[in-house]
Parts: sequence; C-alpha cells; structure tokens
Amino acid sequence: MDNCIFCKIINREIPSDIVYEDDKIIAFKDVNPVAPVHVLIIPKEHIASAMDITEENAPVVAHIFNTAKKIAEIMGIEKSGFRIVNNCGENAGQTVFHMHFHLIGGKTLLWP
Ligand code: 5GP
Ligand code: ZN
Repeated sequence: MDNCIFCKIINREIPSDIVYEDDKIIAFKDVNPVAPVHVLIIPKEHIASAMDITEENAPVVAHIFNTAKKIAEIMGIEKSGFRIVNNCGENAGQTVFHMHFHLIGGKTLLWP
C-alpha cells in the first residue's frame, strides 16, 4: 500500500535488517529495540490492524505464529523464552498501521 512504511520495507524501498522471509511474511529487527532481541513479524499483505483480520486473511496470522518459533531459533531465544505482542489501535499505542507482531526476548521481561 502506498505510504505504508512496512510495505516499503517489504518492497525494499526502505532498508531493514531482515532475519526471515518467505512468500507470505517477513521479519526484521525493530529500529528502536526494547530488548536485546526485538523483531517485527508482518504479513506481506497489507492488513492495517488486528481489527482487519477476516476469515479470508486469517491464515497468515496462523502462519506468523507457526513461524515465530523458527524466528526465535534464528535469534537464539527459543530456550530462554520470548513474548509475542500485537498492539491494536490507539489505546494500545499502535503507531504503524500495517499489522505486526513484536517478538521480544533476550532478557527477563516484566509484566504487564
Ligand atoms: P507499534 O507501536 O505500532 O506496535 O510498533 C511499531 C514499531 O515499529 C515500533 O517498535 C518502532 O520502533 C518500529 N518501527 C517504526 N518504523 C520503523 C522502521 O522504519 N524500521 C524498523 N525496522 N522499525 C520501525
Ligand atoms: Zn503496509
């Protein structure tokens, strides 16, 4: 989608540190990491937020979660553990409206 920063990352119009890619999704390091490992996993299809998941596009969400464990292995945090976070909408602090899942780890994480 024009004007979407993450679509531009997918199209290589903006550089990023890609750690995993296949035909449906791409994962790259967050430019402003909150932990030693902070990767964003996104669908290649532009879906604005979790509120825009439909019966038709929902399989990519399953694919993201099924691939998150592989990305955790790539990043070396599969044994130490990690968190997967999606911010949806204003109160959650979503800033980029191309749905993304934060894969965060590499240290003990506080909750909430
Ligand atoms: P949100 O707050 O929407 O859940 O998260 C957006 C995330 O995207 C933030 O953690 C922010 O650091 C990251 N981000 C924003 N712009 C860029 C960019 O151009 N490149 C990368 N790698 N990350 C970005
Ligand atoms: Zn997009």
